[in-house]
Parts: sequence; structure tokens; C-alpha cells
Amino acid sequence: MPSAWLSLLFRLLAAALGGLVAGGLFGAVAGVSVACGVLLLMLVAHTASLARLQRWLRTPEQRDIPDAWGTWGNVFVELHRLLRRERKARARIESDLEVFSQAAEASPDGLVFLDAADHIVWCNRVAEQHLGLRGERDAGLLVTNLIRLPGFAEFVASASEGESLMYRPPDSKGRVVSIEAIRFGKDRKLLISFDVTQIERAETVRRDFVANVSHELRTPLTVISGFIEHMLENPVPDAGDSKRQLAIMDEQARRMLNLVDDLLTLSRLEDEAQAPREEEFDVRDLIYDVSAEGRRLSAGRHSITCEVVPVFLKGSREELRSAFSNLVSNAVRYTPDGGRILLHWGMRDGKGVFSVEDSGIGIPEEHMPRLTERFYRVDRGRSRESGGTGLGLSIVKHILLRHQAGLEIASIPGAGSTFSAVFPAWRVTLPQG
Ligand code: ADP
Repeated sequence: MPSAWLSLLFRLLAAALGGLVAGGLFGAVAGVSVACGVLLLMLVAHTASLARLQRWLRTPEQRDIPDAWGTWGNVFVELHRLLRRERKARARIESDLEVFSQAAEASPDGLVFLDAADHIVWCNRVAEQHLGLRGERDAGLLVTNLIRLPGFAEFVASASEGESLMYRPPDSKGRVVSIEAIRFGKDRKLLISFDVTQIERAETVRRDFVANVSHELRTPLTVISGFIEHMLENPVPDAGDSKRQLAIMDEQARRMLNLVDDLLTLSRLEDEAQAPREEEFDVRDLIYDVSAEGRRLSAGRHSITCEVVPVFLKGSREELRSAFSNLVSNAVRYTPDGGRILLHWGMRDGKGVFSVEDSGIGIPEEHMPRLTERFYRVDRGRSRESGGTGLGLSIVKHILLRHQAGLEIASIPGAGSTFSAVFPAWRVTLPQG
């Protein structure tokens, strides 16, 4: 039997016993009076406790649970326990909510929570940046009124899986954001935004690259196919003519071969998974080799000299040979006959510096920042005439990047240029002894 009933039974028995004793001693009237008095006292005590409970229930947060004895005391203790459990549960929910909103805030993607009618409930800071929203200001507003984009209202309404919309927020300096809409819970929606500016840019670069390569290959192919057509129409050509035509075809075919070779080199270099095969070697030997190559290309039209110090370099000899030889070949090709070219290898502030200085045509200032872009040329005609592919400096830049080295370019139009590869100190060593 629950203790409340036991206690009531006990008190009723006490009242009856009191009444019986008083009745036995002082007569029936006294007995009934004592029993009624005890019952009255019980009623008053209960009513007082009930009043205290009522008072406390009005503002349970502000007051301590009232004290009482007997059954009411037990009730108050149980209430106290219940309240403590409820406070703990609420604190846990609040802390879970806090962790959840911190996690949503830390997300690298933008998150916008919508209610069943597509009003904004909450959004994180990334969504504010991506979509031009303001969490506090825009909460409760219809998202389709805030993001102005053709088809956006239908997109949010259908919230189809796998569908996304590209958004270029106004005044965001070319930022491109991809938005996805996901349904969750009961008619709730979540908008997720990703910054895809870099991906879009890479896609543009890829498209330009394909267009450039096609264009570069198209010219020599047109020349060759024109001559072949001509030869087919004139099966017995003049011997002199045909020699001249074959020479042109040979030159165009070489041009394509050079281009394909450079493209393959670039694609190998861009494969970051393949680190350069490193060794420590005497740079002087490499410089003598590339200067000899330069002299062959120049065929006596330039004076090519070397100034070197006995400092070793740690890196891929094969890749650096390709980079240095590109710089020397450019110096020869962009320096008029009779000019000077100096290859220099030395130390500057502990760093290793290889430079190629020429007295050539030079480069106007405005072209400097773009020289290492693929297919960028100051003078397209001159580059082509001298057998250039427009990829040389791009290859040089990649090779130097793989060696944590920088490319410095200094030039005065009409007076000459100096291209310097600057290697970090940890890559250079003075030979022992
Ligand atoms: P290219 O095959 O056209 O030489 P590069 O990538 O090697 O391609 O060079 C890009 C452009 O930089 C060249 O077309 C040329 O205009 C300019 N350039 C490179 N080296 C020199 C130099 N030593 N002197 C003058 N211009 C240069």
C-alpha cells in the first residue's frame, strides 16, 4: 500500500483511538469532539501544504521547494527530484543545440534552414557571404524574395535531389556559388551553398587551353594539307618546287612535334604526384652543356659566355636542364645577331641564383606579369618564326615551382632581359675541401 494511504490510515486510527480514549474517560461528547478536532487539524495541515504547493507552482524557477513533513514532505522531495531531472535534461538539450549550431557555423559550406513555407529560420556565416543574406535581419523572411535568380522559386519549391543552381551574387567580384536544396524532417528544407569559383576558373582555363592547342595545331596542319592537295593535283611537279614545298612541310611538322613535346613535358610536370628525382650535382657541368646547346642554336650569331662558381645544387638534373636550356634558347631567339648572352651561376644572400642575361629586344613592362602563362607571347609572329611554342616559360615556372624556386624577370625594352632562377638556401651546397 502506498505510504500516503498508510499515513492516512494511521492518522484516522489515531483520531479514532483519541476519540475512544476521551469518550471512555469523559463521555461520548468529549470522544466525538477529540476525534473531530484531530480530523480538523489534519485538514488544516493538508490545506496549508496545498497552499504552499500552489504558491510555489506559480513561480517554480524563483523559489525553493517548500518544506513539509509527512506525506507532503515526500511529495515535495519527489517534485524536487523531478525538477532537477528536468533542469538537467534542458541543460543537455541546450548544450547539444549549442554544439549543433557551432558545427553548422564551422561548416565550410553555406547552410540555410527553411520552414515549411520557405521562410528563413537560420543561416550560417558562410551562407551570409555566399548568398548575401544577414541571419538576424532576414530570419522569418521568404528566401525567394531575398535571392533573386531566374528559376530559384521553382528550384526551392521542388527541392529535387541532385539538382543544383549556379548563382553569381551581385557585387561579389566574380564569385560563383552552387546551391542545392534538400528536404528534411516535416516539410523542412535546407539550402547548401558551395563556392565553385575556382572550379569554374579551372574549367575556363581548360577550355582556353584546348582552344589554344587546336589553334596552334591548325595552322601547320592547314599548310601541310594544302601542299598535299597541291601535290595530288600536280603529280609531276617541278623538282625545285617540290623540294621547297617539302622543306616547308618538314618545318611545319617539326613545329607540331615541338608543340606536342612541350605539351607532354607540361603535363608530366603538372602531375604533382610525381616528385622530381633529386640528386646533388655540380651546376657548372649543366651550364656548360646548355651554353654549348645555345651556341649551336645561335650558329655564331651571338657571343655566349658563362660565369660560374663551384656551388652544388640539390634537385632534378634532368628537369633543371630543361628549364635552363629554355631560358638560354629564349635569349638566343630574342636577341638580334651580334648580341651578348651571359649565363651566370652564383650565390645571393645564401640562395643559389642561375641567370641568363641578354642584350636582346627586351620586354615591355605590361607583358611581364603574364609571360609564364601558357601560350602567352609578346609578339606571336616573332615567336613562331623562331620556332617558339609559347610554352617555354610556363615549363620553366613549373620546374622551378617543383624545386621551391622563384623566377625573377628584369627587362628594358630595346636593351635586354635577365631571367633569374632563385633557389632556396637548403638546396645549395659548397663542395667539401
Ligand atoms: P615562346 O615559345 O614564344 O618563346 P616562352 O614561353 O618561352 O614562349 O616565352 C613567352 C614570351 O616571352 C615569348 O613569346 C617572348 O615574347 C617573351 N620572351 C621570353 N624570353 C624572352 C627574352 N629573353 N627576351 C625577350 N622576350 C622574351
